[in-house]
Amino acid sequence: MCGIVGYAGDKPAVPVLLRALKDLEYRGYDSAGIAVLDPGEAGALSVTKKQGKIANLEAAISADASAATTGIGHTRWATHGKPSDQNAHPHLSCGGEVVVIHNGIVENYAELRSELVARGHRFRSETDTETIAHLMEERVKAGESLLDALRGSAGLLAGSQAIVAMSPARQG
Ligand code: GLU
Repeated sequence: MCGIVGYAGDKPAVPVLLRALKDLEYRGYDSAGIAVLDPGEAGALSVTKKQGKIANLEAAISADASAATTGIGHTRWATHGKPSDQNAHPHLSCGGEVVVIHNGIVENYAELRSELVARGHRFRSETDTETIAHLMEERVKAGESLLDALRGSAGLLAGSQAIVAMSPARQG
């Protein structure tokens, strides 16, 4: 069971996310990651993810992320794809339109992944989670809000999921 957290407010997001992930450490995990939105540069997403302890993640986060006040964070307990930096969450869509963290199992991920690859999507990880980012990408590109894209994509997933998604585009 992983830990999953999102923050949007007026405080620096990185310390809030790291504290929340540390509070969730008792649940067990094999890797950890965060994504934050850079408020100074429209559309800039900063993603840091590391296998192992939250301390590894903390050490890898760039000082450039310190101004962000919106972000998401995850501790992973792998179900699909080995524990690794690449398979750690967050996961990005092809062009970084959407970034996703997820707790659970997408039971129909193999079928969804084949369909997405056939439609031209490029996967960077072995996870079931990454299918969600690509499904949402299609909807966001078609003009849906982030919320509608999440709802529509979630309707295609078999199994039980907790999902947090963020986009550098206008939020809906
Ligand atoms: N199934 C996802 C993965 O393997 C999420 C696992 C979890 O809940 O941490 O990455």
